[in-house]
Amino acid sequence: MNYSQIKKRLAPCGLHCGNCFAFADGDINKTSNKLRKSLGDFDIYAQRFVDLLDEPVFEKYGDFKKLLSYFASVDCKGCRNEKCKLFSNCNVRDCHKTKKVDFCYQCSEFPCDNTGFDEHLYNRSVTINSRIKEIGVEEYYNEIKDVPRY
Ligand code: SF4
Ligand code: SF4
Repeated sequence: MNYSQIKKRLAPCGLHCGNCFAFADGDINKTSNKLRKSLGDFDIYAQRFVDLLDEPVFEKYGDFKKLLSYFASVDCKGCRNEKCKLFSNCNVRDCHKTKKVDFCYQCSEFPCDNTGFDEHLYNRSVTINSRIKEIGVEEYYNEIKDVPRY
């Protein structure tokens, strides 16, 4: 992937939208759709398997299906296209435009106290941006693209 393609998946704060559960066409979304399709009408069998296999875990299939449907129907287009659904206090999305940078590490004020993040997210963002600064956007993306976000 080139720089502009990577930008669609990496937010200005450095978080990987591409592996976020809410990202439309992200791995979690695509895998959930595939699994939902593969399971077909499993509802009918789930109830039968409780007795046939003496396996009470199948009683939870309804809840599992609801969550799977949720993951399969998410539609976030990523931080550069719409307001983040997870971090309502984020200032970075607007701020990076004002500062005319693609990522925080490119900003003369990095690391700053204007992100709006809690301590955990702030530390994560500083670590990510420091790493991007060290090795570059393309190499960083290759390093993390298949790493689970959670
Ligand atoms: S903008 Fe927020 S909710 Fe949307 S994919 Fe990125 S991190 Fe997830
Ligand atoms: S001021 Fe802070 S939040 Fe805004 S772009 Fe610069 S480093 Fe990022």
